[in-house]
Amino acid sequence: MLVLGIETSCDETSAAIVEDGRKILSNVIYSQIDIHYQFGGVVPEIASRKHVEKISYVVDMAFKQAGLTIDDIDGIAATYGPGLVGSLLVGLSFAKALSYAKRLPFVAVNHIEGHIYANFITYPQLTPPLIVLVVSGGHTNLIILKDFEEYEVVGKTRDDAAGEAFDKIARYLGLGYPGGPAIDKIAKQGDEDKYKYPVADVGGYNFSFSGLKSAVINHVHGLWQRGEEFKIEDVAASFQKTVVSILVEKTINLSLETNIRKIAVAGGVAANSKLRSEFYKKCAEHNIEFFVPEFKYCTDNAAMIASCGYFKLQKGIVSSYRENAVPYINLVSKKS
Ligand code: ATP
Ligand code: MG
Ligand code: FE
Repeated sequence: MLVLGIETSCDETSAAIVEDGRKILSNVIYSQIDIHYQFGGVVPEIASRKHVEKISYVVDMAFKQAGLTIDDIDGIAATYGPGLVGSLLVGLSFAKALSYAKRLPFVAVNHIEGHIYANFITYPQLTPPLIVLVVSGGHTNLIILKDFEEYEVVGKTRDDAAGEAFDKIARYLGLGYPGGPAIDKIAKQGDEDKYKYPVADVGGYNFSFSGLKSAVINHVHGLWQRGEEFKIEDVAASFQKTVVSILVEKTINLSLETNIRKIAVAGGVAANSKLRSEFYKKCAEHNIEFFVPEFKYCTDNAAMIASCGYFKLQKGIVSSYRENAVPYINLVSKKS
């Protein structure tokens, strides 16, 4: 089954064609990072206008690269939320119109659920049950994926997402947008044990990163005010180590408690080198298998949306054209 996926939830216009949910025939991403960079973050109005400009071209390119036409496609999947409403509407409307015109089944995909499926692309043999940690720009979720379309959300952040903490600290340090890759890069030159930052343990499998973010920012503010010399590399490395250790610790605990000895991570922060190496190390110690998407499928892309769409269509799940763009959706447990 060939599924066309469309993703426009934030500042990437993306279209992909995926075969049987696992094999990518094309995955075209037009990123607006260069445009939003100068503003230090995504400007919603500019983002939606750019999506309108690029969507037809990006979908065309996806067909060209796959050597296919719309007549070869069996279904269309598009992100309906969460994200910027103006941005979401562009991809969603495009997908619904194309589906209607070509009488193809249409399925709306939750962007956060979509992130998880990047793992099923990178590992064609991977199947649930699985412990999944989704760490992205706006979300932090710890999930027990019992089966495709059947999951339990056991933990989430009480305040800032992990990616948000990276982005806000990077912005404060003058490292630009997006902040995660910048911190990851300079942290390699820093001493991660130089500073001890506190991280709130809100109990259970939930997370809280806003206190940590404030602690780092206040600490740097104090250093600047007192004119003390310091290396931002050390700050970046110490902060990164703190975030990573709490994420890894809780995820491993859940794996051990449920005895599901397979952990997958997803979302933009899954690209973080420290997170990846720490997971590899700790999982090996506990005899847990570790899965992480290829770098290019960690951040936003339409291939993961097409993959998620495929597994829904296969189960006979289709969406109505009344499905609208939704800016905020809590990922809630779903049992089939
Ligand atoms: P969401 O998926 O929650 O709607 P989003 O789509 O904006 O948010 P993603 O595309 O999943 O988020 O990822 C972007 C986030 O990932 C940003 O916060 C970015 O800083 C972070 N990120 C990307 N690469 C890295 C890295 N190497 N280390 C840490 N964070 C990273
Ligand atoms: Mg983005
Ligand atoms: Fe995302």
